[in-house]
Amino acid sequence: MSFLEGYEENCARFVRAGAEIVEIGKTFLGRSIYAFEIGCGAPKILAQYAIHAREHITYFLALKHLEQLLATLKFGGGTVYLIPVVNIDGVALCLDGVDSAGESADNLIELNRGTDFSLWKANARGVDLNVNFDARWGSGAKNVTSAGPENYVGSSPNSEPETMALIEFTKSISPNITLSFHAKGEVVYWDFHQTGPAYFRDKRLGRIIAESTGYRLLSSGKSAGGYKDWCIQNLGIPSYTIEVGAENLTHPIGQEHLPQIYYKTGTLYQDILNQFNKIINTFPQK
Ligand SMILES: [Zn+2]
Repeated sequence: MSFLEGYEENCARFVRAGAEIVEIGKTFLGRSIYAFEIGCGAPKILAQYAIHAREHITYFLALKHLEQLLATLKFGGGTVYLIPVVNIDGVALCLDGVDSAGESADNLIELNRGTDFSLWKANARGVDLNVNFDARWGSGAKNVTSAGPENYVGSSPNSEPETMALIEFTKSISPNITLSFHAKGEVVYWDFHQTGPAYFRDKRLGRIIAESTGYRLLSSGKSAGGYKDWCIQNLGIPSYTIEVGAENLTHPIGQEHLPQIYYKTGTLYQDILNQFNKIINTFPQK
């Protein structure tokens, strides 16, 4: 079964299992981006997966997390809004091949300089979505200014439909915390120029994530334009990039590694939900 067929089928399966589903927007090629809502009440966690195409192992991880949350979060204690794949067009390029891109195929083959899209990260017009957000846009160390497989910031901040879908949905639900799943390296990035109490609050919550997964908590370095960066800068909420999969694995990470990755992230949501209020109350809000 192709990725695209499986995506539709999995979404339908989770709806049948009782998950609320929302279409948060459409991709450049017109495909529906879905968010699932599980549980109720505060705190509200927004989690997004597979914004980078070749990191599609995180989409398969999202399916495992959805199954787990549907089984455990029915009776309250918090809400998880889970977007299993943001960059649907990009993941389809990686897994289903360039024919999935229809009329965009010729342009994409030119941008990719070939038909092997297994290491492609961007969306279907060669914009790297995780450097496209309006958060010190264009100042990242690896940013490039022309379309291609990775690191192109886009023609302007928030220029891509996938970026805008994520921004509008995030504003509409006002999450208390966001998680962005990427691969690889088993690290958690937590900071983006926070100051004052938010700095200590976000580092402390980051430590909860690091302890839960066994991953290392690291400073983001000279990154910019990411979803996590946008959330920290514009909403003032704690936001994390979680890089799953051991550093010695090669891209794209194969599904044979999914059990190990799932195991390490198996208590993550419960650990955050259990400890969020206690930690938030320790640090006064601005
Ligand atoms: Zn990534």
